[in-house]
Amino acid sequence: MPDLGRPYPWLEPARARLAAYLASGRLPQGLLISGAAGVGKAALADEFARRLLCGAPEPDRACGVCSACRLAEAGNHPDYLRVEPEEAGKRITVDTVRKLIEKLSLKPQYGASRVVLIRPAHAMNAAAANSLLKTLEEPDPQTLFILVSEQPAQLPATVLSRCQRLEIGLPERGEALRWLAGRGIGGHAEALLAMASGAPLRAAALQDGDLARRRNKVFEDWVAVFRGCADPLTVAEQWAKEDGDAVTGWLQSWLMDLIRIGSSDTTPGGRLANADLAGGLRHLAEGLDLRGLFGRLDEIAAARRSLEGQANRQLIMEDILINWSRSRSAGAQP
Ligand SMILES: [Zn+2]
Repeated sequence: MPDLGRPYPWLEPARARLAAYLASGRLPQGLLISGAAGVGKAALADEFARRLLCGAPEPDRACGVCSACRLAEAGNHPDYLRVEPEEAGKRITVDTVRKLIEKLSLKPQYGASRVVLIRPAHAMNAAAANSLLKTLEEPDPQTLFILVSEQPAQLPATVLSRCQRLEIGLPERGEALRWLAGRGIGGHAEALLAMASGAPLRAAALQDGDLARRRNKVFEDWVAVFRGCADPLTVAEQWAKEDGDAVTGWLQSWLMDLIRIGSSDTTPGGRLANADLAGGLRHLAEGLDLRGLFGRLDEIAAARRSLEGQANRQLIMEDILINWSRSRSAGAQP
């Protein structure tokens, strides 16, 4: 039964599986929690780690009030070992893993259990992963390794084979929208969810950056240029002030949706990455032909590469928009 008292209700099936491991006394030595960014993997890992370390747990959760729970809450539990890159986006080095292994050679300091949380696990370089593997191959019943990763395919097969995999799927769209609404995110929730590829936590994070409003404005401009209602050069000047990576990413995603509509492999309202813009996209698709769209996609890919360098942003946006404004007349001709 879903527990409304716990965050991220779509994690309930995964919670049930973790509880079943505990109930049967068959907790694996290594657990790999995988799934898209922004579905709550880290939160689930942390919740489970605290349950294991808690001195007076309920069957499926930590008590939250015992001294072990308070230490974990403060980030000071000596048997809760977090392994992360020294800087976000960097690799986890072999030195970091060696320091961890040194600590593991001692007995747990506080209780009977110890948890090692490695996140993101795919950030381990080859030497680090190898070093960890030796530890995983010599099971210590007191220690659970929890690996969290969006890209488990980047982990060595030898490490993967030592871990029980727990894959967290995206919640149903309706459930994700309800959750966003519960956080007071109403107006642009559908747009945010589309931009976050369906991952609710990522959608909530995007909300803070006002991205949904900006993305919808860029979409309006894009439609207006296509219809001949806005001047490509004027719009390019505005887009040049935007985050170029975001703008070209949105354009790619909309073009892909137009191709999906054009190849009519979608049910109404379904399967589009930008379901919130389905009406506008379908309207656009009527005046377009598929071949033209693949050309536009190639241009955007080239533009993204140019934007990484010192290229003139406004000129790049002008090229994109001028070609786009011509798609209409090209599409209208038989
Ligand atoms: Zn507790």
